[in-house]
Parts: sequence; C-alpha cells; structure tokens
Amino acid sequence: MKPWLDVEGLDVRFTLGEGGLLRRSQGTIHALSDIHFGLERGETMGLIGESGSGKSTLGRAILRLVRPTAGEVRLGGVNLSALSEREMRPYRQQMQMVFQDPFDSMNARMTVGQIIMEPLRLQGIGRTGERREKAAALLERMGLDRRAMHRYPGQYSGGQRQRIAIARALSTAPRLLVLDEPTSGLDVSMQARILNLLRDLQGEMALSYIFISHDLGAVAYLAQRIAVLYLGRIVEIAPTGTLIGAPAHPYTASLMDALPLMVRRGEAAHLPLPVGESPSPVHPPSGCAFHTRCPRAEPRCGMERPSLRSVSAGHQVACHFPLARMGNPPTPAGLPPYYAAGG
Ligand code: SF4
Repeated sequence: MKPWLDVEGLDVRFTLGEGGLLRRSQGTIHALSDIHFGLERGETMGLIGESGSGKSTLGRAILRLVRPTAGEVRLGGVNLSALSEREMRPYRQQMQMVFQDPFDSMNARMTVGQIIMEPLRLQGIGRTGERREKAAALLERMGLDRRAMHRYPGQYSGGQRQRIAIARALSTAPRLLVLDEPTSGLDVSMQARILNLLRDLQGEMALSYIFISHDLGAVAYLAQRIAVLYLGRIVEIAPTGTLIGAPAHPYTASLMDALPLMVRRGEAAHLPLPVGESPSPVHPPSGCAFHTRCPRAEPRCGMERPSLRSVSAGHQVACHFPLARMGNPPTPAGLPPYYAAGG
C-alpha cells in the first residue's frame, strides 16, 4: 500500500544565468535527484544534511512552492504535480510551512491577529468573527495572551515569534507541516520549548511533519525516521534509533561526530567531520558524490554511483562500502539531555 505522502523520483533542476541577448544558460544546479520516500499520517520525517544539500528545496518541492523537473508528489493518492493552481487550493490548506526566521515571513506592519488570520482570509475560510476567535484560541494554545492579537511581531522575542508563526501555519487546520529549521537561532531553552510544543501539537492534531534541520539532536528528538541528504540525493534513510545507533553511510557517521556523546550513546560508528567544502551542485563529482571527502573512498567510488539499497528493515544506504553495524541501535526516548538541561 502506498504511503499517505508519497514522493517518487523527484528531481529539481535550476538553470543558471539565462539572461542577456542570447539567453544562454551558464549551467544547471542539480538541487534534487531521484528522491523517494513516504510519510504516514501523524509521522515525522527528519531531513538532515549540510547547507546546500537540498533539504529546504525538498520541503518546498513537496508543498509545490518549487516546481519539480521530474517525479511526483502524491498526497492521499492525488498527484499534486499534475494539478492546476486552482485544483491545488484545497491541498494548500492541508500543507503549511514554518520558516527558520518567522520575522522574514511576517509583515511587520500587520498585527499578530491579522498575521494569523491571513491564510484564512486568503483561502476564504470562515467569517471575520470566526477567524478572530480561531486566531485568539490558537494564540492561547501557543502559550501567548489573547491581547497579542492587537500587538505587532516586533514587540515579541524570537521564540514568541516562532510560536506566532506556528499558530499562523495551524490556522487552516493542515495535516502536514514542513518545518524548515524552526529552532535555529533560538537559545537552547527556547529550542526545547518549541520542540516540546511541536510534539504536543502533533499528538493533539494528528499532524505529520517534515522536520528540516542541521541539528541532528533536535531531529532525533522529534522524528521517527531520518533521511540524510548530500548534494541533492538521499544517501541514507532509516528509523531514528537505527540511524543514530548504527549509521551505515560514512557521511552520516561524520555527522555523528558533531552530536553530543549522550545523544550518540557511545556505541555508534562515527568518523571525523568531512574536510573541505561541499562540491558544487552545478558540477557534482562523478560516481559517489561524497568520494572527494570520504575517508573510506576506493577507486570504484569515483566511477560508479551507488544506489540506495536495503541493509536492514527500513534502513537504506547508498554506499559501496557501508559501515558495519556496531551494537544494538538505541531508541531515543526523552529530550536530548543538552536540551533538557536548558529547560
Ligand atoms: Fe565513501 Fe565510497 Fe561509500 Fe561513497 S561509496 S560513501 S566514497 S565508501
């Protein structure tokens, strides 16, 4: 049976520099290549990877804020890629995004109430009084006072603004939230509060999340499964406990190096963080794109691209020489201690 959200063979390419008289292209950015994964109702999929790995583009392509070059995104069996803008409208209600910097996505001259009611107004949902009541109730659920309805986003802290942004995203009663680095830039204590709020809301509203972050600890706390992206491709995907406890791709193992030992739990294979810059997505390396930085690379790696293959239940890796499993994968339970310590 197909998953509720089904991403199949998704490719996104951007053409560079089609300006000037001759409108010549100066290259193509391979932002995403051959992405496959599924997500069920109430589930969280974490997307991790360095800056430029394509994780934000993937979130936007799922919401059709970016047009895929190839492949399909299906929601409840409906191919969203084939819909007109008008046909997309009911699906836009079902899928919302929370951005890293809520201030950037808010009109500073609108009151908090107007900001939360805006998606309802644009979608023509409810009467003015109903919208106002819904916005005020959402604010209260986010732990903010109803009086915030008449204030401006500039009067609030970063963490409070992120809660306002979550309230706005929830106003249309969506089923799927794409959370793009929602806790970046917040202090540890506020990160913990936002993560706990997101977890509670998911339980209350049966929400599905795509959680994008470079913070593997935060992703491990919220996600049941994690996909690791490198230069626009998924290089490893696994249940969270398996990925943290027994990473099979050398790139994933190098990300473990940045993870505090108490989250990593000592047993997992980990390699030093990769040296050098991530290669250009305009000219991705031949074969395995990670071979220019991989401490385990062999001659075969530069010639032949490894495809994703299963190494255990629900665990796929794209590597010719995956790391051997070391010990039993732990199941992350509570909040990582370094968040819990911050409150
Ligand atoms: Fe490293 Fe080779 Fe595996 Fe790529 S295929 S991750 S270069 S060992």
